[in-house]
Amino acid sequence: MKIAIAKEIEVGERRVALIPDTVARLVKQGLEIWVEAGAGEAAFFTNEAYEAAGAKIIGDTNTLWSEADVVLKVGVPKEHETYQLREGSSLISFLNPLGKPEIVQHLANRKVTAFSLELIPRSSRAQSMDALSSQAGVAGYKAVLIAAAALPKFFPMLTTAAGTIKPAKVFVMGAGVAGLQAIATARRLGAVVEAFDIRPAVKEEVQSLGAKFVEVKLDEDTVATGGYAKEISEASKQRTQEILTEHVKNADVVITTAQVPGKKAPVLVTEEMVQQMKPGTVIVDLAAEQGGNCACTEPGKDVVRNGVTIVGPLNLPSSMPVHASQMYAKNISTLLQYLIKDGELQLNFEDDIIDSTCVTYGGEIRNQRVKDALTVEGVKVG
Ligand code: NAD
Repeated sequence: MKIAIAKEIEVGERRVALIPDTVARLVKQGLEIWVEAGAGEAAFFTNEAYEAAGAKIIGDTNTLWSEADVVLKVGVPKEHETYQLREGSSLISFLNPLGKPEIVQHLANRKVTAFSLELIPRSSRAQSMDALSSQAGVAGYKAVLIAAAALPKFFPMLTTAAGTIKPAKVFVMGAGVAGLQAIATARRLGAVVEAFDIRPAVKEEVQSLGAKFVEVKLDEDTVATGGYAKEISEASKQRTQEILTEHVKNADVVITTAQVPGKKAPVLVTEEMVQQMKPGTVIVDLAAEQGGNCACTEPGKDVVRNGVTIVGPLNLPSSMPVHASQMYAKNISTLLQYLIKDGELQLNFEDDIIDSTCVTYGGEIRNQRVKDALTVEGVKVG
C-alpha cells in the first residue's frame, strides 16, 4: 500500500504530516511511503532524511496525489487538490469539516474515503491520535512566549540589588488543552496565574498546575456531550462578564483560548474591558481564527488600544514546526496503523474511533453535522 505525504501549500504552513522517524517505523511495518519533494523542508526535515528512513521522494505532485492509496496531510486540502485524488483512495488530514463542509462534499464526490482528525473522539483510547490536543498544546505554550516577549516587564519575581520586581499576573481564559499548557508555561516562567473556564470540572486541573481558579456560579449546565463547552444564555454571559472584568483589569497578560466547536468563539473580553486594562498590558487571543475572544482582536495582526497590545496569532503550531510535526506525525501514524489490517484499510464502523473520524465513504458524507453545515451555508457542489 502506497502512503503519500503531500507538501503543504497553504501560505505560512510549515508543518509536515510525517517526520523521518515515523516514516522509518512505518516502512519497517511493510508500508511503502512516498514523500513529495520538499514536503518537510519548512520543518527542517530534508528529502535526504526521508530517503534514509526508507521513503521514496516524488517530484511530481500530480503523480503523488493520483497514485497514492492514502494521502496524509496537515491542513485542509484545497479544492483543486481534492480533484487530484484517485477514486477509491483515502485521505487523512485536518479537514475543518464544520467550517469547510464544501471540501468534504468535494471529497465525497470524488468517492474518496476521508478521515478528519478534528473528529477523533476525546477518549483515553484515542488520545494518541488526538491531533487537536497535540497542536493546541503547542499553541498554548507559544502564546505565553509571545506574551512574555511583548510585555514590557519581567514574568518572574526577582530580588536584585536594583530592587525587587513583582511577578507578572497572567489570566488565562479557557482552560482546555491550550489553556492548561499556557498556565503551565506561564508558571514555569514565574508568573502568578489565574484561570477561568465555563466548565467547572477543570478547577482541579488548574489548581494542580499552581494557578488560582476564578469561580463563576451559573444556574445552567455549561457542558455538552463529549466534554466540550456549550453556548450559554445572555444572562449567564452578563454575570460571567462582571466577574471577569475585575480579573482582566488586574492582569498584566490575558491569554484567551475559549472555543465552542463549530461555533464562532465567544467574546469574553469586550472593548470596555480593554479600556479598563493598564497601558503596557498584553492580550494574546488564541481564538483569533474563530473570530476571537476579544472584541478588539484582528486575526493575524497585533493591534494597540490605549496602550494594550492585542495579538491575534494564526496557526501558532506552524511556528514550531519541528515538534508540532513530530506530535502530529505520532497522531496520524497511530490512526493510520489503527485502520490498516492485513496490509489494507479495513473499516469497521462499529468502532467509535473509525465511525466518528471517517467523514466520507462510498460517495457519501457520513456525518450529519457536516451535512447540516452544508445546508446552512447553502453550498451546492458537484
Ligand atoms: P476547546 O478548544 O474546544 O475550548 C477551549 C476551552 O474553552 C474549553 O476548556 C472550553 O470549556 C472553554 N470555553 C468555551 N466557552 C467558554 C466561555 N464562554 N468562557 C470560558 N471558557 C470557555 O477545548 P479543548 O481544549 O479541545 O478541550 C475540550 C474538552 O475535551 C475538555 O473537556 C478536555 O478536557 C477534553 N479533552 C479530552 C481528551 C481525552 O480525554 N483524550 C483530550 C483532549 C481534550
